[in-house]
Amino acid sequence: MDIEATVAAIGAGDRRALGRAITLVESVRADHRAQATELLQRLLPDTGQARRIGISGAPGVGKSTFIEAFGRHLIEQGLTVAVLAVDPSSARAGGSILGDKTRMPFLARHRSAFIRPTPAGTTLGGVARRTADALLLTEAAGFDVVIVETVGVGQSEIAVADLVDTFVLLLSPGGGDDLQGIKRGIMELADIVVVNKADGALADAAGHAAADYRAALALMRPKIPEWPAEVLLASALNDTGIAETWDAIQRHRDALGNRLADLRAGQATRRMWAEVHDSLVDALRQDTQVKPLLAKVERAVGAGEITPSAAAAKLVGAFRRG
Ligand code: GDP
Repeated sequence: MDIEATVAAIGAGDRRALGRAITLVESVRADHRAQATELLQRLLPDTGQARRIGISGAPGVGKSTFIEAFGRHLIEQGLTVAVLAVDPSSARAGGSILGDKTRMPFLARHRSAFIRPTPAGTTLGGVARRTADALLLTEAAGFDVVIVETVGVGQSEIAVADLVDTFVLLLSPGGGDDLQGIKRGIMELADIVVVNKADGALADAAGHAAADYRAALALMRPKIPEWPAEVLLASALNDTGIAETWDAIQRHRDALGNRLADLRAGQATRRMWAEVHDSLVDALRQDTQVKPLLAKVERAVGAGEITPSAAAAKLVGAFRRG
């Protein structure tokens, strides 16, 4: 890849160049990784201006329908929107449901929108890194809003919440049942909770669910004192609560104020350490001194012959000497 040409093309908003660059950052090949690193470093000064929004929820809660309506609303405000869809479960299912362009037909066709599924990854860390890189690329391409969509399976929300400025949790009007099903930790990540499907026969249940979530959130410590999480009602199907969600996101941004820079700095630093951690562990596992010990030491720990910390010290010691 011609890095200079790609930098220029992405800066000019060339979608195909953006698509190819995302493919490059997703690659695990060493030469691709080196090119991707160079490309991202070159584009870094052109990043950071977008609103980074995470939208998460269980399958069937209405994410596609919601993002389609929400994206349309943003486009009507004159904004451009990129949607990066993360679906770690598709790694196991062997395909990407999120890749299906018919999920968001309006956005898929509109020139102010860009939709990109993150391909199945083997590790959550890998998925998070690729999504973080793809997010930077879409910013360099000039998108005003980047939505990172994730399917609610616990760990992935935590990773995605750490990539965005505002994390929106979509819930369905299941009320009490749902509340038990949702891990408290995920509720704690939410800046905004949207109870979707607040329409027709589900309208009453949605109202009750929203009250339950408000009560639950009131018992949790807000992420920042200036912003106790808000609970909204929406119907993605009927296009209600969509403008209100965008309004809440804007107010959340205002509440963050100068903290936004700190938030992003913290996220970037955590990602750096996560990568340092992953590469060191990789190097250790591949090390010629360590490799022959691994199975034996693991077995000894499993059999209770050596403590986990003594075993770790042994492996790290062998790595240091190696
Ligand atoms: P996803 O799996 O979270 O992406 O959910 P989808 O957007 O595919 O929606 C799942 C189902 O819920 C579909 O049958 C949608 O038509 C329906 N749905 C989505 N939003 C709403 C809504 O606001 N109200 C109602 N009644 N149904 C909805």
